Amino acid sequence: MKIGVLALQGAFIEHINILRELGVEAVEVRLPEDLEGLDGLIIPGGESTTIGKLADTFELTEPLREFAAENPVWGTCAGMIFMAKDIGRDQPVLGVMDIVVERNAFGRQVDSFITPLEVSGLDGGEAQPFPAVFIRGPRLVEARGDAQVIACLADGTPVAAREGQWLVTSFHPELTGDPRFHEYFVKMVAEDQN
Ligand code: GLN
Repeated sequence: MKIGVLALQGAFIEHINILRELGVEAVEVRLPEDLEGLDGLIIPGGESTTIGKLADTFELTEPLREFAAENPVWGTCAGMIFMAKDIGRDQPVLGVMDIVVERNAFGRQVDSFITPLEVSGLDGGEAQPFPAVFIRGPRLVEARGDAQVIACLADGTPVAAREGQWLVTSFHPELTGDPRFHEYFVKMVAEDQN
């Protein structure tokens, strides 16, 4: 199994490191040809406007869309914005997943927080909450069609969703020592290969 991490900007190294710790071959994706032979892709957190502009500049947007149509893709934070169909404003996005998101919905950088999250599909499930790191993350306003919310904050705000082979999280699982979200995605990729 080989998983790519979009490496235009943002927290891509952290994703690569966790994947390698899990024994998965992980490569940085910067050009369309880097997508060849990949079984899945992670789009990291960072700044979605920058990621979108750089993807356009390197003529990656359409190849990424085509890759996502056929393969598992996980967007964290800015990556979630980049994957959403509706972000309520005009900026370059992939626009593949049937979700509505609102950027910067949890406040500014100084309002960053970490909170325990119950995620039913993760190893340990509800008994072992996942430490979710929020840094100027987007809010999942609505999951439409086949998109399903898989985790909510204590106040009911949805912060993770899945639609078929696509996964999105408002927060940063690569910034904790907890590999369970990466294991979850690796499992999605393995299931997609069968
Ligand atoms: N605020 C950023 C954006 O709008 C996302 C922040 C992050 O990825 N941590 O793209």
